[in-house]
Amino acid sequence: MTETAITIALSKGRILDETIPLLKEAGIEFVDDISKSRKLVFPSTDPNVRLLIIRATDVPTYVQYGGADLGVTGKDVLMEHGGDGLYEPLDLNIARCRLMTAGVKGQPAPRGRLRVATKFVNLARRYYAAQGRQADIIKLYGAMELAPILGLADEIVDIVDTGNTLKANGLEPRDLIENISTRLVANRASMKMKHDLLQPIIEKMGAAVEARRTVPA
Ligand code: AMP
Repeated sequence: MTETAITIALSKGRILDETIPLLKEAGIEFVDDISKSRKLVFPSTDPNVRLLIIRATDVPTYVQYGGADLGVTGKDVLMEHGGDGLYEPLDLNIARCRLMTAGVKGQPAPRGRLRVATKFVNLARRYYAAQGRQADIIKLYGAMELAPILGLADEIVDIVDTGNTLKANGLEPRDLIENISTRLVANRASMKMKHDLLQPIIEKMGAAVEARRTVPA
């Protein structure tokens, strides 16, 4: 197999649909019908570029260790990962949402030690420490909204978009931790060694993001 110069790791799911048009403007398109394929590595219309479709939470790890030169994933995932070995050259301004604390509606958080359920354990630990609040962090992999209802936790830390999921489960948003959007990340070594190949991709994607910002809603 001949070596492809650049590997870009993409997050599957909702982010992928919004990433594809931005990549297209950098001249990078899938050759295969990805909806019909079980492949994980795809060639692109740019002979120098191959694309991976993986879980969003794995994207920073692939890029950190050089398995991919570039990656596309949410700021929430990057904050949880910690960002070691990564540059973050571009805010793609897609899949915007908020990272928030939430709890049972009308039932304020207790004053003392808190129990917090989340999949963002590192991030939550840092957040509550910075607030000077003692918190026991409980790791969950999904359905965080259940935890306060079943008495497993006083609060959750989760992604909120419309707020409908919280509302439907009798919860209310509390504090905003961070505004979230999708970011382009780059391996630090690749940024030096493959600068001439990566820079045009970053610039073209950046131009596509800017063009979308200036289009009236
Ligand atoms: P909503 O009911 O619109 O507030 O959506 C909240 C649910 O959708 C949460 O459980 C999130 O996991 C998920 N969600 C919404 N927006 C995003 C996003 N941009 N990235 C990842 N997950 C999201």
